[in-house]
Amino acid sequence: VKLAINWFIFGIKSFMDYRAFQHLSYGLYLVATALNNRKAGYIANTVFQVTSKPPRVAVSCHKENESLKVILESKVFSVNVLAKETPAGLIGNFGYMSGSEIDKFAGIETISGITGAPVVSSSCLAWLDCRVEETLDLGTHMLIIGQVADSAVLAEGEPLTYRYYRKKFRMVSPVHAPTYIENEKLHPQNVSEKQPAADIPGTSQEDDNEPYICAICGHIYRPEEGDPSVGIPPGTPFNKLPEEYRCPICNAGKDYFKPM
Ligand code: FE
Repeated sequence: VKLAINWFIFGIKSFMDYRAFQHLSYGLYLVATALNNRKAGYIANTVFQVTSKPPRVAVSCHKENESLKVILESKVFSVNVLAKETPAGLIGNFGYMSGSEIDKFAGIETISGITGAPVVSSSCLAWLDCRVEETLDLGTHMLIIGQVADSAVLAEGEPLTYRYYRKKFRMVSPVHAPTYIENEKLHPQNVSEKQPAADIPGTSQEDDNEPYICAICGHIYRPEEGDPSVGIPPGTPFNKLPEEYRCPICNAGKDYFKPM
């Protein structure tokens, strides 16, 4: 009987409330690296200082992330603190696109730090230039510990926090983020009240066959193609997509698609 009670209690305990994890505070950072003049970078929320003497930071990086290979080979990386006003396009490019698809650093100002890692001035308030000291294999992710070799403040301003970003763009964590939650639903506080389409002058409930573009990552939904990745058949107009439809690239909700 005692064993049965223990199992029962264990069973209750295992129903974790993943919203608790969303109460952890994070910033949002551009982590950059380079090898033989080839730059790579990604957006990380899990960056934190772990010791002061010597100053060390830890960053977590998904193993499918191209930047990880470059960091492990070059053994250098920079942590660039994004400003609150960072344009969504910058985060979209670094956070959701692959370096093989686009030149992520086009239009981004960088200089080479003393480690050789590129430090970024566009949209950034400060940077830390680091050498890799330790790595820890965590299955899906690698935890990288770097010793800070150099640092600078570029501008006064408010750093972008993960919470602010999620609220502003009504995002859920992308699948490669350490904070990803499977089947995460949008928190009600993140969803603004929508005006019924019929009440907005000049709009109607009629189907439209216009392509729609994701404001976060630039992905284009084309009705004639549908979205085979989630079983949306070709010929499905945007307004006939299910309400829970999400951008296949960045996971943004339907509200973030605009007609082109
Ligand atoms: Fe997107």
